[in-house]
Amino acid sequence: MNKVQNVRGTYDLYGEAKRKAKKVIATGSQIVEKYGFEEIETPIFEFTEVFSRNLGDTSDIVTKEMYCFEDRGGESLTLRPEGTAGVVRAFISEGMQQNLPVKLYYAGPMFRYERPQKGRQRQFTQFGVELLGVETPQADIEVISMAYEFIENLGLAGTVTVEINSLGDKESRDCYREKLVAYLKENYDKLSEDSKTRLEKNPLRVLDSKEECDKEVVANAPLYQDSLNEESKKFFDTVLKGLDALGIRYRVNNRLVRGLDYYSHTVFELVTDKLGAQGTVLAGGRYDGLVEQMGGGQVSGIGWACGVERLSMLLDSNMPLPRPIAVIPLGEDTQMQALKIAYDLRKAGYFVDQSYSGNIKKRMIKANKNNACKAVIIGSEELALGKVTIKDLDSGDQKLVPLNELKEGLK
Ligand code: ATP
Ligand code: MG
Repeated sequence: MNKVQNVRGTYDLYGEAKRKAKKVIATGSQIVEKYGFEEIETPIFEFTEVFSRNLGDTSDIVTKEMYCFEDRGGESLTLRPEGTAGVVRAFISEGMQQNLPVKLYYAGPMFRYERPQKGRQRQFTQFGVELLGVETPQADIEVISMAYEFIENLGLAGTVTVEINSLGDKESRDCYREKLVAYLKENYDKLSEDSKTRLEKNPLRVLDSKEECDKEVVANAPLYQDSLNEESKKFFDTVLKGLDALGIRYRVNNRLVRGLDYYSHTVFELVTDKLGAQGTVLAGGRYDGLVEQMGGGQVSGIGWACGVERLSMLLDSNMPLPRPIAVIPLGEDTQMQALKIAYDLRKAGYFVDQSYSGNIKKRMIKANKNNACKAVIIGSEELALGKVTIKDLDSGDQKLVPLNELKEGLK
């Protein structure tokens, strides 16, 4: 390494981009806490099997995207590519099954070795939720409505569409798989090499392929809805009726499947046409088999995760910092007093910008540059009388106020 630079696909998040990401996470946390979700922080790396066994051995993530490494003790570890597997691992290893349902949310970095492009990074941030232990469609409705309220609160309800589909239960999936395999075999020659392999190992994955040639074949593939058994249809119907009752608009997309193995019944995505090919900003679904597959007994699950950077890109670029008050001593002799006044104002909840050095002119220029709304100017003569000057930096008005009335004077 001879150049000072970041690794491809990673970004330094600062300034407005960081403010937006913080807003996304703060908004999400505030909303989901109202629904009784509590934050969990799981490790950034796990044993490799936590992901390789559970996301599906033909998924893009497992076959191409994981950052795996051997640590000094010879353990195979992986930087987490997504949140659900780690949260479910924690749910099991911490014995949380005792007190169902369990409602958890998380925010943090995820790592995938992908081709970097707009909205696609190698380190990115997800905010996500997991609801464990509820079998009924009420959970699906609540979890989707929570995602919708979140998007609405970010001011993006008009930019984003809810797409939803059902993969049904195991019986429906098996029935569909059979029809799909028959169809794909008829079109074998048109498929990409990857999809030919998928056809053997996990045919459903072909539906999620990003290759053009596969997309053409998939366009005419049998529809999932025709394979749903009665029970699965009823389940999906209840979910849609629930969304109707809440006034949440959605589009049933029969082509929607999710790229991971653990999904069943409801799957959904929130998509936008404003981010080019990386239009999915939030995605989730029900994963009734995952906890059992990981050794934790029969516990249902449903959840979603959003891409914090993708959502940030949709936010208005006008996210100013709060306007500070500039505290400006006129000379060396009031520097210490200025420091104390700034300290007191901050303790009282004001945003205060302390100018560190320079004459009054330089400090005023700096205050304006920092978009200060008012300046508190401290001269030794006024201070001897117990007074300071407040200057309104928008109107230019100024007034002398007693120091003990400073806070009222700033209102
Ligand atoms: P895509 O089809 O775009 O690859 P995905 O199905 O792999 O998405 P999920 O695993 O469902 O994505 O992750 C949930 C969300 O996380 C996505 O909808 C997206 O907003 C975000 N996300 C996923 N991968 C990346 C990435 N490499 N860079 C930035 N955001 C990402
Ligand atoms: Mg992906």
